[in-house]
Parts: sequence; structure tokens; C-alpha cells
Amino acid sequence: MSSDCLFCSIVRGEIPARRVYEDDRTVAFADINPQAPTHVLIVPRRHIAGLKEATTEDAELIGYCQLVAAKIARERNLEDGYRTVYNVGPGAGQSVFHLHLHLLGGRDLRWPPG
Ligand code: AMP
Ligand code: ZN
Repeated sequence: MSSDCLFCSIVRGEIPARRVYEDDRTVAFADINPQAPTHVLIVPRRHIAGLKEATTEDAELIGYCQLVAAKIARERNLEDGYRTVYNVGPGAGQSVFHLHLHLLGGRDLRWPPG
């Protein structure tokens, strides 16, 4: 846990968020600036700065976030097409340095992304 981390504060419930799912390892909440009809962030409760800071100890948690995304997508009938994204580093748009998986769906998703 990091006291000055936005997503740690959301995990602790100190900053409000529209939570859509939670379990013992993760919290998922609606992105405040949605880029698609479904735009959910899946966040591990444990603070990990990002994918490039992750270690093999974090491997299961990183993969587990993908399974949580798949579960939310299934429940929302998004299985025709959705995207899960880890933005890694400022050059790829990472702005919050607590690992989070974006789940985007509910509209056509172009490839390659911008
Ligand atoms: P990234 O740019 O990949 O680091 O993603 C950070 C995401 O967090 C962005 O899509 C923001 O819109 C989102 N975000 C920032 N602050 C909040 C907040 N308080 N509640 C929900 N989502 C947020
Ligand atoms: Zn954090």
C-alpha cells in the first residue's frame, strides 16, 4: 500500500469510485474518463507500480486481472469483441503508477490502437 497512490486510496475506499466488481485480490471500477461504453479498470489490491516494475512474484496477479476482465466482459455480453490493455510507461499513456488493466468494449475497436 502506498499512502500517496490514487488507486491505493480507491482500493481502501478513501476516494469514491463506481465499483463494479471486487474480490480478495482485485477491485474493478468504472474509468472516470471512459473511452468506450464499457471502460473498467481492474486493479490489484496490492500496490505494483506497473508492468515493467513487476516481478515473477506478481505473475499470477497480473494474469488474474485478465481473468477478472474476461468475467466482467462475459457478464456484460461483450464477447463479440473487447480489449484488455496494460499501458506501460508515460510514452504509452500510463498516467497512474499503480498497475491497472483497462477493459474496453461496447463499440467497434480499431487496430492498431493510437
Ligand atoms: P493510464 O493512463 O493507463 O495510466 O490509465 C489511468 C486511467 O485512470 C485513465 O483512463 C483515467 O481516466 C483513470 N482515472 C484517473 N483518475 C480516476 C479516478 N479517480 N477514478 C476512476 N478512474 C480514474
Ligand atoms: Zn497503489
